[in-house]
Amino acid sequence: MNAAPAETPKIPDFPQRADVVDRSSGENYSQVCLGPIEELGRYGIRHPLIGATAPGKVFLHRLLGLSGMEISYGLLPPRTSFPFYHKHKQNEEAYLFLSGAGEFRVADDVMPIREGSIVRVATEGVRCWRNTSAEPMFYICVQAKQGSLEQWTGTDGVGVPGEVTWPN
Ligand code: ZN
Repeated sequence: MNAAPAETPKIPDFPQRADVVDRSSGENYSQVCLGPIEELGRYGIRHPLIGATAPGKVFLHRLLGLSGMEISYGLLPPRTSFPFYHKHKQNEEAYLFLSGAGEFRVADDVMPIREGSIVRVATEGVRCWRNTSAEPMFYICVQAKQGSLEQWTGTDGVGVPGEVTWPN
């Protein structure tokens, strides 16, 4: 396996509580395996300024060498809240909830969330979320620079001719 892309974050990353299962990269790609979703609790971050710890959270931009977005996986145990409020300087966020159920808060607005819910939050939205169910709440958060999207789907993706084949 090749080494992962050079790690040159602009600011120090939050410390990770556990290493990934495996990672590799090659020309035009990188991959990482975080392991089973139900074991995401072995990861976590500690916010360096607030001092609070969020178990089950792992950021991917450094692990994958992402250059235009940040993505994090998160796992909130049953009947727990994410431990602090935050907002952003540049990036909007989309939270994709894949299991569990609870509430998402932006300032004074509180909305129900459940499997299948997706919440977009603009930079200035002060946000938090909680899992009020008896199931683990698994979610993915995608960050990208607000207002930066210029092409998408059929305007950016380019089909490449040729029959799909796989090496044996
Ligand atoms: Zn955020």
